[in-house]
Amino acid sequence: MTNDSKALKAFTTFRIGGKPLFYSRPENYSELFDALRLCRKRELDFKILGGGSNILVDDTGLRFGVIHICSPGFGWIEYAGNNRLRIGGGVSLRAMLRYCKENGLGGAEFLAGIPGTVGGAIAGNAGAHGLSVGSLVKYVTVVDKRRYRLSGEDIDFSYRSVRGLEGAVITEAELELSPRSPELIEEQIKNNIAGKKAAQPTGKPNAGCIFKNPGEKSAGRLLDLCGFKGRVRGGVRVSGDHANFICNHRRGSARDVFFMIKEMKKVVKEEFGIDLELEIKHWKGQENAKVA
Ligand SMILES: Cc1cc2nc3c(=O)[nH]c(=O)nc-3n(C[C@H](O)[C@H](O)[C@H](O)COP(=O)(O)OP(=O)(O)OC[C@H]3O[C@@H](n4cnc5c(N)ncnc54)[C@H](O)[C@@H]3O)c2cc1C
Repeated sequence: MTNDSKALKAFTTFRIGGKPLFYSRPENYSELFDALRLCRKRELDFKILGGGSNILVDDTGLRFGVIHICSPGFGWIEYAGNNRLRIGGGVSLRAMLRYCKENGLGGAEFLAGIPGTVGGAIAGNAGAHGLSVGSLVKYVTVVDKRRYRLSGEDIDFSYRSVRGLEGAVITEAELELSPRSPELIEEQIKNNIAGKKAAQPTGKPNAGCIFKNPGEKSAGRLLDLCGFKGRVRGGVRVSGDHANFICNHRRGSARDVFFMIKEMKKVVKEEFGIDLELEIKHWKGQENAKVA
């Protein structure tokens, strides 16, 4: 646990985010328990960071520390038999898919092109093409005051939302896949990545879709109809390819993103009577703690 922590922009795909109260990157369970114990003892608030690809972190006034699950101690993968994979919470989805391909384990290809870690994907039930990671989960190992295993059936996974894992650190998971030829897996992965590249912005830092799709409607389409594509606010710009993506165009600030989000919500509500719900998580500093 260090106090001379780096600004979180170093760890977010948005390249935005200020300094947390402390930064901890536990190498193993023992160090993770130490960090959590210290937080409890000193009554420090903390957040869990994975690949930083689904968060907007304010630039100043962060009154919490960060526990980063990304070290090799949480980065292992092993075959558990019966087409099941045991995997550390810090493994990137990309590395997981490489393992799946090499070992002929299919069923997770829909995750191709989604950045971040297994822990982050499970925490937000990441997915695409109508499928989400929760459907693969047999068990999740979590840590709070102790370490324990939860059955996937006891976790409530819904569209980009999870109930039953609140506040716990996801350290491991067991996923159920199915046998498939490496060639077929590779082809599916390539197709999915190509589809994403064609529809989403590349090159400028972003955090994926800002809003969840409201019901059957597409948030991106609604925002497009409201004329948001290409709109600029300070250093951020709504993608010209996909109106649900805000890109950090020119050293944008969390405030720039935050005001763009407020504007998007307001206009979509006025035009369509729909309340857009954030898909990204907003880690607020003190100034924004009371707004939105
Ligand atoms: C270009 C781009 C495309 C994307 N496309 C998609 C897509 O198609 N579908 C989709 O669902 N998402 C997409 N995303 C969003 C993002 O990649 C996913 O939500 C991803 O699963 C987040 O994982 P992460 O490790 O980066 O989590 P982070 O951003 O680090 O954290 C996200 C949340 O998960 C929690 N968390 C992270 N790790 C853990 C852990 N080990 N234990 C407990 N909680 C944890 C954090 O506290 C936070 O609340 C995209 C993002 C980008 C930048």
